[in-house]
Amino acid sequence: MTSREQRIADFIEPFRVEPGSKVTLAKDFEPDFKGTIRSKKRGRKLLDQGIELLAEYQSRLYAQHTHGVLVVLQALDAGGKDGTIRHVMTGVNPQGVAVSSFKVPSSEELDHDYLWRYGLRLPARGQIGIFNRSHYEEVLVVRVHEELLDRQKLPPGSRRGLWKRRYREINEWEQTLTGNGIKIVKLFLNLSKEEQRSRFLRRIDLPDKNWKFSAADIRERDYWDDYQRAFSTMLSRTSTAWAPWYVIPADRKWYARIAAGAVIANTLIEIDPRYPTVGKKAREALQEIRRDLEAQAPAGAAADPFIEK
Ligand code: AMP
Ligand code: MG
Repeated sequence: MTSREQRIADFIEPFRVEPGSKVTLAKDFEPDFKGTIRSKKRGRKLLDQGIELLAEYQSRLYAQHTHGVLVVLQALDAGGKDGTIRHVMTGVNPQGVAVSSFKVPSSEELDHDYLWRYGLRLPARGQIGIFNRSHYEEVLVVRVHEELLDRQKLPPGSRRGLWKRRYREINEWEQTLTGNGIKIVKLFLNLSKEEQRSRFLRRIDLPDKNWKFSAADIRERDYWDDYQRAFSTMLSRTSTAWAPWYVIPADRKWYARIAAGAVIANTLIEIDPRYPTVGKKAREALQEIRRDLEAQAPAGAAADPFIEK
């Protein structure tokens, strides 16, 4: 491991939810944590370095074509999911990234098992897929508003022990994916209630932010404590050795972006994708083709047309 890679691994360690540990969000994680990075300016430099590293690794991921990366982003409203995606993925080749945003399920989606629509959007090998909201909504919004289950057309009797079963099914699904080359990075953007209040105020006060504000967001805010409990249980039950959760301090947008970028970068470093090298035979074949192409140069042309005479 290079010293830069070690620095990234050390930086993200405090955000990791130890598999098997019991999390109480309010007690265990601070939304306004900024560790040793004192200023936004210094943070900007780190983010730029992180973005450069991501671009390089993504290109290798694509070339190697054995692994995909799924980035799962969860947060409360105004938590900064959209901005994080925009900033962190800027340097990356758009051909290698696909973002999927999950809203209230359609009637077609409700006609399938709850994991179906997420399975359809999984990244292929060589790709980074980003889930803006994800299968975790099935144990978050659906758990906070249990009446949503009524629309899921579940077989009779399946409500007993349903949440416990869902946590297990999600863990098993992710284990299967991981074992088959799809690495999962789970980021929870941890926002304080006060910071959410001020972001909502901005959305109301700034005309070009109005579209982002919905009355539903304010109604959900009334369920703040229920969500904190649902998030805490989700983190405790589904942070696994193969797909651990990272709790990203989200009260400072600039900090959240660096931290999110660092966790994604760390995953790519762990995969360590390489450009495939060609064997001796293939190299010889290339040389032969090269000689052939050179022989086809029109009579009288310079050997290299880019060299001016
Ligand atoms: P937004 O991400 O702000 O555009 O809002 C999307 C909305 O869809 C949020 O209010 C989510 O709670 C809701 N949503 C996402 N997934 C589900 C789900 N599986 N069941 C019910 N509501 C969902
Ligand atoms: Mg919203």
